[in-house]
Amino acid sequence: MPTFSTPSRDVIYLDYNATTPVCDEAREAALPFLSDAFGNPSSGYALGREARRALETARAQVAALVNAEPDEIVFTGCATESNNLALKGAVEDWRGKKLVTTSVEHPSVLNPALYLVEQGAEVVFLEVDETGRPDPATAARTAAGGCALVSVMHANNETGTILPVAEIREALGPDVLLHADCSQSLGKLPVDVAALGVDLATFAGHKVYAPKGVGALYVRRGVKLAPLFHGGGQERGLRSGTENVALAAAFGAACEAARRALPGSRKRLADLSARLHGRLAERVPGLLLNGHPEQRLPNTVNLSFPGVTGEAVLSSCPRLAASTGAACHGPEVSVSHVLAAMGLSRDRAAGAVRLSVGLPTVEDEVDAAADMLAAAWESLTGRRK
Ligand code: PLP
Repeated sequence: MPTFSTPSRDVIYLDYNATTPVCDEAREAALPFLSDAFGNPSSGYALGREARRALETARAQVAALVNAEPDEIVFTGCATESNNLALKGAVEDWRGKKLVTTSVEHPSVLNPALYLVEQGAEVVFLEVDETGRPDPATAARTAAGGCALVSVMHANNETGTILPVAEIREALGPDVLLHADCSQSLGKLPVDVAALGVDLATFAGHKVYAPKGVGALYVRRGVKLAPLFHGGGQERGLRSGTENVALAAAFGAACEAARRALPGSRKRLADLSARLHGRLAERVPGLLLNGHPEQRLPNTVNLSFPGVTGEAVLSSCPRLAASTGAACHGPEVSVSHVLAAMGLSRDRAAGAVRLSVGLPTVEDEVDAAADMLAAAWESLTGRRK
């Protein structure tokens, strides 16, 4: 299990899907490359070779966590960049080409997809059912007759719903290029690029206890991509620019720690989130779980509190760090595109709170958070004076 020696603040952090603290393994792996081991991995002398070795070790560590070959991992600056590289790079000229994706993707897929529409692509956003999952047969029907890329996230960041990526591959057949945004599933679930049947997969360092500023794209051997940046040809020409050795080393070490921790960490996260959900359900009649009841990330519960907005609940809990499914702009409530795509009523979506636990979370924090949230709801709905 990764270890965490940084002192925690006086806050109950239940927003691990937004970002994670840096684990000791990641910090220690990065430190030499922020100090005397400052060489450029492209330099032929010892200092450069030392940096190159660290970079290649990190690549192998990321690859091992996802059942890829090291040379199939391209380091990027973040998951947003990986998603942009996958979508924009899959085809050099998108005019007249088709991209199929889903309506519940992260903006870092949705917005490049909209950009491709401006470049002349035909883009189809698949609908999802009330649990947030697209239908594989519909995906295959939509992609039939020539489709340049299908992009489907592995797990949704807001609800934790796991999307049927392997089933979509099966329905599509082997010839269509398939990309999965695995930013949220990495480290929480086994992510096996071969079992998923993907050609391209996105990962983010800061969701797995590495620092912000590093991501990766899995590019299956033989898949051709056009780069976003042109320059010195680093990362097999797919990501020119001197590599960020320190952060890549941190990401590698975090992946290594995550690989050793699975499957125990998955069970631990599932137990903690079930405890949180259970305690809240006891105190809040009418509390609803959003997303798929079983096909879900072990660490995420997205819950709708009846008769209130999630924003009001969370602002009554200043010691708790968590996210809402809607943002209020004055009297206007803008509901998350994910909950809207699942067909949730406005009230249910407005009452949504996303609680995501992480490896440093302990039972006492979960119990205290449940008490705070339940008390806030009781007070807002007049059940408590
Ligand atoms: N994809 C998913 C599913 C995410 O949850 C996130 C971040 O929340 C991203 C992509 C983008 O990550 P980053 O902001 O690190 O580029």
